[in-house]
Parts: sequence; structure tokens; C-alpha cells
Amino acid sequence: MNNKIKHIADQSLRNEPISRTDALYLMQVGRDEIYDLFFWANQIRLRYFSHSVKACSIVSARQGRCTEDCSFCSQSARYHTGVEEFPLVDAKTILDVATCAEQAGSSSLGIVTSGYGISNPGDLRKICDAVEEIARHTHIHPHGSFGILTHETAQSLAKSGLKRLNHNLETSERFFPKVCSTHTFHDRINTIRCAKEAGLEICSGAIFGIGEEAEDRIDLAFTLKDLDVDVVPLNFLHPISGTPLKDSLPLKPMEALKIISVFRFVLPDKEIKIAGGRERNLRDLQSWMFYAGANSTMIGNYLTTTGRKVEDDFQMIRDLGLELAGNYD
Ligand code: SF4
Repeated sequence: MNNKIKHIADQSLRNEPISRTDALYLMQVGRDEIYDLFFWANQIRLRYFSHSVKACSIVSARQGRCTEDCSFCSQSARYHTGVEEFPLVDAKTILDVATCAEQAGSSSLGIVTSGYGISNPGDLRKICDAVEEIARHTHIHPHGSFGILTHETAQSLAKSGLKRLNHNLETSERFFPKVCSTHTFHDRINTIRCAKEAGLEICSGAIFGIGEEAEDRIDLAFTLKDLDVDVVPLNFLHPISGTPLKDSLPLKPMEALKIISVFRFVLPDKEIKIAGGRERNLRDLQSWMFYAGANSTMIGNYLTTTGRKVEDDFQMIRDLGLELAGNYD
């Protein structure tokens, strides 16, 4: 057993902050010590979440034609990805998806729209209507991801009953300009601040495998800790034909698991959710994501890529002796 990893884990188990230097050390452990890293990440997960894991779903409510140029994204109008495009769907369509997601066992449904932000009052009204309908007719928690928000938009969404806003920082402040040139890291931080001020819970995380370095991963983890976000979704690149990252190789499964573990050490009591790209990057090691420290996962399809069958994921959770968290808590 590597004593240094145990010593750092003891701090996380006491919910004391670990240092950036220690986090970087963990991010660079070799294959002889990686199982110690997983062991302690799992101990930290058990300390804060016991055997309970969460599952959530998303619905693409407006797709494609985005003015932004995020280099990993199939929905940017700058890239010819062939993604299906459609304008904002109506509230009834979103409610139908929420009802199905509830029946499938999701605790929440994230309504996701492409684009810089919510561009007009009509769209904002439609989204607020959908949120109100979900709250009225289901037990599922309405969450959403709508790009850059103003203070006023965040307030309107909160008033309609939105519980949580997803707004990923994607990567470190240093690396962000290499990923997106049409808005800034600061724009994203500002959206999170507006949402927090409106009383929304915050789901904010990252995408890995986009050319970032170990330091970028650590910087992002500490930025999310400083922002005191509630949920940290970790995505792994699924290269999309037509985007600048189309030829990127997937991360090695052990590297992806290591990232999950280090985020668990840095954010010991936060919900760490494995999101897009797990099938491609973790491959046969998908069930290891919980042993590596995650306590939450997305189920079903992603925005423009296909996920595993929901029943396969639930079987995996049962086979591991884990329990799907009491939904709606
Ligand atoms: S990630 Fe969002 S903002 Fe960036 S290109 Fe895709 S849809 Fe647009």
C-alpha cells in the first residue's frame, strides 16, 4: 500500500482540502499504485454516499445551428457534422420525455438546448412552461442546460421551478481558449454565479481527452471546488466527424478511471457523475467507474450520441451490490 496516497486519502475522508501538489501527484501515479488510488477513492465514496448511486437522463430540446465553436461539439454550425437540427420543441414533448425518464428510473431530467444562450423571450417562456409541467405532472426533478445566462434569465428559470442548472466549465481557464473562441471561461463562471444567486443548484464539470494536460484537469477540479458546485459531471471525448477533434484517440480506460479518482479526492462529498463518452473511453471497465469514486451516472442516450441500454446499466448497478438512490431526494 502506498502510504502517501493513504495519507492524502485520510485528509479527504475528513473532508479537509488536499493540496494542488498532492492532487497532481495522484494524477500521475503509475500502474503499480493505481489500484491503491482506486481503493482509497472508493473508501471516500463510501464515506459520503455509502452504497447509493444516482442516475439521470437528458433530453435535447433544441439541437444544432449553434453560433459557438466548441471544438468537441457536433452542434456548432461551423462544423459539418450532419447532426439532426431542430428548433426548440414544445412543453408537451419535453413532458412526455420526462414521464418516460421517470418510469425508467431517472431521478431527474436535464432539458438541454444548443446555442449561446436563451435568445428570445418566447423561447424562455416555452422552457419555463416545460419546467412547470414537469413539476406539476411528475416527481422527477427538472434540471436544464441553456448556455450562457443573465441574472434575469436565471431568476425566471428558478421561479418556474427549475431545480438545477448544468453549465460545464469544460476545462481549465488556461486551456479554454484552445477549446472555444466565441465566448470566454469568464462568461461561463459568470453564468454559474448568476444561477447560484437565483438559488439554483449547480451541476458543472468537464470534458477530458480534448488535448488538455494533467495540470488542466487539476486546475479545473480546484475551480469547481472553489465555486462549491453541487454535482460534477465528467465527460470523455467521443470524437465527432467534422469537428476539429474528429481524429482524437480515446483516453485509455485506466487514465479515465484515474481522473475520476482524483476528482473524488479533491471533491470528496460532491456528486461525481459520469456522463458522455464512457462507453468509448472506459469500454469493458465501465463498471469500475464506481470503484474509482463516482457515485452517479447518466443513463440512456446522450445529446447526439447513443448510450447503452438503460436496463444494462441498472443490471450493472445491481451486480455491483449498489442501490439506485432514493429518487427525488
Ligand atoms: S457545447 Fe454548447 S455552446 Fe458549445 S458549440 Fe456545442 S451547443 Fe454550442
